[in-house]
Amino acid sequence: MNVECPHCSESDQTVGVPHALSDAAHPLGPVEHGALLPPPAPAPPKVAHSKVANVLYTVAGLVGAMMVMNLGNGLPDPEETTAAYRAGYVFGPLILAVPLALAGLAVQLATKQRRAEAVRESAQVQHALWGRRHWVWQAVWLCRRCRVCFVPEGALGPGSAASPAIAVAQLPMWVTATADRAPGVPGVSATR
Ligand SMILES: [Zn+2]
Repeated sequence: MNVECPHCSESDQTVGVPHALSDAAHPLGPVEHGALLPPPAPAPPKVAHSKVANVLYTVAGLVGAMMVMNLGNGLPDPEETTAAYRAGYVFGPLILAVPLALAGLAVQLATKQRRAEAVRESAQVQHALWGRRHWVWQAVWLCRRCRVCFVPEGALGPGSAASPAIAVAQLPMWVTATADRAPGVPGVSATR
């Protein structure tokens, strides 16, 4: 394939980036190699805890800590207090802490499905964006003479314009910007 470099207008030193990365006959420097690597796949999504549940757990934990501190200070003087007072002193915080922790758990369970759904949708968008970036990346060429990257005319769909020469270090940013700008990523426009 005869692909001209936009910098030197020659095609003898141009090579597709995926090929340039694996070509043992023309090894790349480590920095150049890093900049030419394909866009990293998105990290697997995690369902976060409910924020409300986290607050309830924290308060329950503080109340529990208060109870431990009370116990650490020793029991009230049995001569001056009733048994009921002492029981309240020791177990009183539990009356607060247990319902708070249970409420936290209830909120956590009640919102679990909704949170999982939101995470799944966001993961789909991330995956679609990544697919798009990968698609842009695989169309990029390198000129070994000028050490610049470029995308030939028509490589990103029929009639797509040729890119200017792109410094290798700028390539990851350029790929991201070009992919995110391109229309037709399912689900992306709806969440912006
Ligand atoms: Zn060139």
